[in-house]
Amino acid sequence: MARVDPKEKAKHIQAALPGLRALVSSCRVCGRACGVDRLGAGLGYCRANAGDGDHARWSAAVLHFGEEPMLVGRGGSGTVFFSHCNLRCLFCQNWQISHEGEGRLGHFSELARAFMDLQAQGAENINLVTPTQYIYPAVQALGLACAQGLNLPVVYNTNGYDAVELVGLLDGIVDIWLPDLKYMESAPAARHSRAADYPEVAQAAVQAMWRQTGPLVLADGAARRGVIIRHLVLPENQSGTFEFLLWLKDHDMTGVTLSLMSQYSPQFRAAECPEINRSLTPKEYDDVVDFAASLGFEQVLTQEMASRAVYLPDFEKDEPFRQ
Ligand code: SF4
Repeated sequence: MARVDPKEKAKHIQAALPGLRALVSSCRVCGRACGVDRLGAGLGYCRANAGDGDHARWSAAVLHFGEEPMLVGRGGSGTVFFSHCNLRCLFCQNWQISHEGEGRLGHFSELARAFMDLQAQGAENINLVTPTQYIYPAVQALGLACAQGLNLPVVYNTNGYDAVELVGLLDGIVDIWLPDLKYMESAPAARHSRAADYPEVAQAAVQAMWRQTGPLVLADGAARRGVIIRHLVLPENQSGTFEFLLWLKDHDMTGVTLSLMSQYSPQFRAAECPEINRSLTPKEYDDVVDFAASLGFEQVLTQEMASRAVYLPDFEKDEPFRQ
């Protein structure tokens, strides 16, 4: 199991907290830059509001065995799903928590306890899923957990719509960046996620993450540090997958670990957009995998088309991924 030094991480956390506090007090942690006070009653696009900077809302804290193999390792990924979302895509498979905000409200000390419980259960890492809108209480929880001996790598599992300033503040706190890069063009980003500037915001964030940690480093088969970029291939190339791969190559990132995901199926309100109201065809997926290989990407994780059902969680259940 990959370990980190909790004392060293605690120092980074203490140094980052004032900057994070300033960033959320007139919130600009993500591309929406709402400017609302997230230490008080401010309600931004994400609809996340705990009334102060000390509470967060999260839906589940579980060992998850459906993530990429180097995140699962032997013990599973200690995954915490935060409620609400700053992007809220029309086709979201986690719509119960992202759009409807399902989850429990808890103080950061309870969140720290959840991290420690996951470590006690043998988790390989602490995997923060869509944490951006609750970043201040999440980092406070990490600080408390580090003081209690949390020594697992921290995974930042994000839709990619993060401010570069936030990425900088999390240097030394996040060990493994796990961003999506969802779109390369404004039109589909606006239509499916109401974020026309998603491509420029996410590209800048991903470049900052890459500069910060570089390629993925493994220890005993589990991820220890680095970047894994996820890309959900959408029908009709709405995700701009060929452009995405060319962009990575043009930016000297062929050494990045890529997770090319075939699991798309039309969920939630996808029927409102005919171009994404179907699953991916095997040919659409094979074409992008072949293109990645032709460009020289060596670290490409692919999915079986048949694996789609495994990735549809139900957050009404205590164990969302159990079929
Ligand atoms: S995290 Fe929420 S409040 Fe803050 S900028 Fe993003 S959408 Fe707005």
